[in-house]
Amino acid sequence: MYKGTGASPGIGIGRAVIVEEEQLVIERREISDPEEELLRFKGALEKTIAETERMAQDLASRVGEKEAEIMQGHMLLLSDPMLTGEIENSVCNERVNSEIAIENVCNMYADMFASMGDELMQQRAADMRDIKTRMQKMLLGLRSVDVSSLPKGSILVARDLTPSMTAGIRPENVAGIVTELGGKTSHSAILARALEIPAVVAVTGFLAGVQDGDAIILDGGAGDVYVNPDAETAAIYSGRRSQFMEERRELEKYIGRPSVTKDGVRVEIAANIGKPEDVDKVLQYDGEGIGLFRTEFLFMDRSAMPTEEEQFEAYRKVAEAMGEKPVIIRTLDIGGDKEIPYMGLEKDENPFLGYRAIRFCLDRKEDVYKPQLRAILRASAYGNIRIMVPLVTCIEEYRQARALVEELKGELDSKGIPYKRDIQVGIMVETAAASLIADIFAREADFFSMGTNGLTRYSVSVDRGNKKVFYLYSTFNPAVLRSIRHIISCAREAGIMVGMCGEAASDPLMVPLLLAFGLNEFSMSTSAILRTRKLVTEYSTAELQAVADKAMSFSTAAEVEQYMREFCAG
Ligand code: PEP
Ligand code: MG
Repeated sequence: MYKGTGASPGIGIGRAVIVEEEQLVIERREISDPEEELLRFKGALEKTIAETERMAQDLASRVGEKEAEIMQGHMLLLSDPMLTGEIENSVCNERVNSEIAIENVCNMYADMFASMGDELMQQRAADMRDIKTRMQKMLLGLRSVDVSSLPKGSILVARDLTPSMTAGIRPENVAGIVTELGGKTSHSAILARALEIPAVVAVTGFLAGVQDGDAIILDGGAGDVYVNPDAETAAIYSGRRSQFMEERRELEKYIGRPSVTKDGVRVEIAANIGKPEDVDKVLQYDGEGIGLFRTEFLFMDRSAMPTEEEQFEAYRKVAEAMGEKPVIIRTLDIGGDKEIPYMGLEKDENPFLGYRAIRFCLDRKEDVYKPQLRAILRASAYGNIRIMVPLVTCIEEYRQARALVEELKGELDSKGIPYKRDIQVGIMVETAAASLIADIFAREADFFSMGTNGLTRYSVSVDRGNKKVFYLYSTFNPAVLRSIRHIISCAREAGIMVGMCGEAASDPLMVPLLLAFGLNEFSMSTSAILRTRKLVTEYSTAELQAVADKAMSFSTAAEVEQYMREFCAG
């Protein structure tokens, strides 16, 4: 058995089709006529852009707007005058052929992105390499791999899947995907999830152990891959595949049902989104609202800040699509693990403890915060928008943000621009300080949403990315649990809504505790909505009180988790 990273859930059973990119040999040629070479480059560039546009349109119509955006991102790169200008300069000044100019310039950018370390930048590096080889192939007249006509039941095996390759996949023919490289958040993994094709990525050494036509079984949840499995394994996984499909069908029954416990307590199951296009899936899976719109995604993958107008359009689109349902827009939360190069943030010694989120926004009121708040306020005329302030640690930060909102309301009034007059301004509770003074915040803030990713990080003082200390990171740590219980009780006492938008909100072992504590809103990735709704309907909050009391009596995270595991196993 091979072990990789599960990137798209489900069981894939089929035959290996090894997809190999044609070997690209890039040779350096001295050119005598740069003008002619530039025409050659521009011709290939135009064709590559047209090809990318076709892929984007195909994806938009077959899969969704969000997935098409990946290819639109490639179009932006290909149309970036800085990139193409540098390639043209290299052709003219160094008198080299376009293939070499592309190689040097794109590699320089790709290396720069890759060296920035975080996963998003790694992905941009992969995008840059993808467009590089596509332009070079276009110049050399080589065909890119075509995966659109694989036989039914294919398990696509590749060293890495470029987004442009994945875009051509027909899910009715591809039973699974296995790659040696890639990560859970790589574009190809995102596409695999959107196409609902089971996928395992980062399977080291896999290509050496597999041949075209081999029988393959993969478990896209666990990350396990078998080559030519024995009959017993095949039978087990065939059963698991049926069960997985059955569960998926079963969950669909919960579309349109209320999220209400057996004893009649109604909660709201909402979605976390990063881009307006994500709303399609939220509606498909019947999210009852948007509990967290991570606006920083609107600022990523571009070379300058989105304008107030662009932001307004994005927020309005979400508000309109959601209608009456609440849409909580979190104001810009950058810094820490979310780097945006053009924002001019200096490297912090301790980025998670530094100049970020609301701290940054309050320091950049004129050029960053006001345009964003104005865009949100204007969009609030089109739906049920709420504003959420991240990373607050003291009430002054909240007051300043709120004062800005009031100031901007006055400004809009004087211009006769409509907005939701009673717009709520709440906070994300994700620091130990905010938790301890939750009662103070509850007197002024309109609602709370607990960011348990941050709350856990800041309570146990652990950076999740650090493997050496990761063992300490647990939301079941009694310190974090007490914090959660305290925050909920402060909110309830003050009569304000309290939600949770960190990962714990959809953890099946955590849901019973949150119900017992009295959480009002659970916000999560869209794929978890129906599963969580089903869970909620299976519990009675009254019966859960004793479970919560018992869970809170333990001394360690491991004991709590073990107890909840046993309880949930029934
Ligand atoms: C959180 O901290 O729980 C949270 C939802 O924020 P982020 O966007 O940083 O995951
Ligand atoms: Mg956070």
